[in-house]
Amino acid sequence: MLRYNEPINPWISLLKNILVIGGGFSGLASALGAARRLDELGVSSNNISITIINLDGWHSIRVRNYEPDITNARVSLAKILSPLGINLIIGDVSDVDLKLHSVTVSTPKGTQTLKYDRLILALGSILNRPQICGLFEHGFSIDTWNEASAFGKHLDGLKNQQEASVKSAVLIVGAGLTGIELACEMPERLRALGIRNGHIILADSNSHVGADMGEEAQSIILEALSSLGIEVLTDIQISSIDNNGAILNDGTRIDAKTVVWTAGMSANPLVLGLPVNHDDLGRVIVNSEMQVIDCEDAFAAGDIAAAPLGDGHYSVMSCQHARPMGRFAGHNAVNHLLGDEMLTMKIDEYLTCLDLGPWGALRTKGWDRQVVASGLAVKAIKRNINCKRVYPPQTGNPRDLLDFGTPVIQAPPPDNLKSSSS
Ligand SMILES: Cc1cc2nc3c(=O)[nH]c(=O)nc-3n(C[C@H](O)[C@H](O)[C@H](O)COP(=O)(O)OP(=O)(O)OC[C@H]3O[C@@H](n4cnc5c(N)ncnc54)[C@H](O)[C@@H]3O)c2cc1C
Repeated sequence: MLRYNEPINPWISLLKNILVIGGGFSGLASALGAARRLDELGVSSNNISITIINLDGWHSIRVRNYEPDITNARVSLAKILSPLGINLIIGDVSDVDLKLHSVTVSTPKGTQTLKYDRLILALGSILNRPQICGLFEHGFSIDTWNEASAFGKHLDGLKNQQEASVKSAVLIVGAGLTGIELACEMPERLRALGIRNGHIILADSNSHVGADMGEEAQSIILEALSSLGIEVLTDIQISSIDNNGAILNDGTRIDAKTVVWTAGMSANPLVLGLPVNHDDLGRVIVNSEMQVIDCEDAFAAGDIAAAPLGDGHYSVMSCQHARPMGRFAGHNAVNHLLGDEMLTMKIDEYLTCLDLGPWGALRTKGWDRQVVASGLAVKAIKRNINCKRVYPPQTGNPRDLLDFGTPVIQAPPPDNLKSSSS
C-alpha cells in the first residue's frame, strides 16, 4: 500500500500496470473488477499491478450527502484495497497524456509522473457552478463529503433559532433529484437543531420540480414537498447570492442565511482537454466495453463516461450505472492487456428511488419513469440502497471483495423490504 509518507515504489513502473484514477463508485468497482479477473486467471500482482489514485483516503458514499448524519458515508480505501494488494496513491491528478501513457499527480511529497499500460478514468463529476455573483463565497453544496460536512457545520452554528427569521430560512437552488432529497430532509433537520419556524424554499429555473421525472412522479413529489411545508418556486433565475440570501433576476430578494446550490452536474473538467469525443455534459464517449473510442488502452467509467447501455440509451450520471461500468471496465482492462476477449455491458432496466424525507420515497421504473410505488413503503428500499447495497464489503475478506467486482448487472432491490435496514 502506498501512502503519503512512502516513496512511490520505483519498480511499479517496470511492471505491467493498470492505473485507475478516482476511488469513488466506478473507480473502486474498476479496481475490484480488475483484481477479480487477475485472480480468476491466476495472474499475480507481481506481474500486473493495480493502482488507484484518489484525492483522499476515502471511498465516498456520495449518494448519502443529503442525509443529516454523514459520519459513516465514507469508507477507508486502504481497508478495502490492502487485502487485495491494490496500491493506493493519495494525490491530485492534474494531467493525463493518452499518447505518452502517463498521468501527472501531485502528492504531499511532490509532483510525479506515472506510466500506465492500461488506464481507467473514473474521476466522477462536479456540480455546475455558473458565474453568479456570490455563489462561490456564500453558496453551500452537498456535492462532496467535505462540502456536505461544511454545510452541516454551518447549520449547527444556527442552532436554537426560535423566531422565524433570515437565520431559519433555507433556500435550495436546483429542484432536481439532489435538491428534492435535501429539501425533504430539511424540516426535520432544522427541528433537530432546535430551529423553530424554519422556512424551506426549493427553487429552480425550470417550470417543474423534478423536471426529468414525468408528470405522475412530479405530482407525487409535489405532494410530499407540500406535506412537509416546503415552498416551491419555479421559473426563477438567481442573479446574486450574499451572506443573507439571494436576489432574483426580477429584483425580488429571498432572505435566507443558508443558500445551497444543487443545480446540475458535469463531467470532471480534467477530461475536457483529452483529444477524444465528448458529449454535451463533457463526458468521454466509450463503447459497450467501456473503452474510450479511438483510444484502446484507456477505459472510462462512471459520471465521467457516456456508455451505450445496449437498449438505445446512454448511461446517466448515477451510482446505479457507475458501479457496473466500473466492474466491466476493470475486467476488460485486464482482458485487453492480456489479449483476451472483452465483455459487453448491457443494462436492461433503468430505475430511480428518490428519498422524500419523512413522507417516504418514490420508486420509478423505465426511461419514462413509470411510478412503481411511493410513500413509506418505499423508504425501506431507499435506506437499504443507501446504507447497504452501494457499500463495498467491509469484512476484510478478499473473496468478498473480489466477488463485489464480478462483471454482472445486479438485480434490482426487492420490492418487499420491511425494515429500515441501516
Ligand atoms: C447528494 C447526491 C445524491 C445522489 N443520489 C443518487 C442516487 O440516489 N442514485 C444514484 O444512482 N446516484 C446518485 N447520485 C449520483 C452519484 O453519486 C454519482 O453518479 C456517482 O458518485 C458517480 O460515481 P463516480 O465513480 O463516477 O464518481 P464519484 O463517486 O464522485 O468518484 C469520483 C472520485 O474521483 C476522485 N477525484 C476527483 N478528482 C480527482 C483528481 N483530480 N485526482 C484524483 N482523484 C480525483 C474523487 O475524490 C472521488 O473519489 C447522487 C449524488 C449526490 C451528490
